[in-house]
Amino acid sequence: MGSNGSVPRRATNAVNREVFGVLAAIIGAVMLFLGWYGVSGRPNLAEQMPYIASATVPGAALVIAASVLLMGSSAQRRSDQTGDLVAELHALLVEEVGTDPSPSPVVEELTGPDAPEALVAVAGTAHYHRPDCTLVSGKAEVERVDPASVEGSELRPCPVCEPTVPTTTAAAPPELAD
Ligand SMILES: [Zn+2]
Repeated sequence: MGSNGSVPRRATNAVNREVFGVLAAIIGAVMLFLGWYGVSGRPNLAEQMPYIASATVPGAALVIAASVLLMGSSAQRRSDQTGDLVAELHALLVEEVGTDPSPSPVVEELTGPDAPEALVAVAGTAHYHRPDCTLVSGKAEVERVDPASVEGSELRPCPVCEPTVPTTTAAAPPELAD
């Protein structure tokens, strides 16, 4: 009777685990439902306790046990798929970084060391910025703004980069205003 060596033992175990896992999951789900159903009909906690203790807690335990069983039995099978998936995700991430849009030509030109006073604005917005402001970096429609024209225009200084406008009618420095 003990010589059933023809049956691959490991495969049988895996199938048994899976069947038991599915059964446990179903039973656990039913118990959870019954527990909830019983609790929902009882207005106060004292009356709810028996239902929670008898159905909800063991139901939850069964569902957890089932998920552990099922994950264990199918982990071997899924490891290959997971590897492919991770590789695919990694490729996507790398590609995303690789195709990062380059900064607009205007910004590249104006962030040079020879253009510290330049101002820029994104078309259709109400603020002007320093060329290296994070709010304009990567934007396609960055336009150069003449600092002299900013004062009379609708444009307001960006609160993030706080661009300074070299005005011709500069006010006297505070320490000299006596
Ligand atoms: Zn800004």
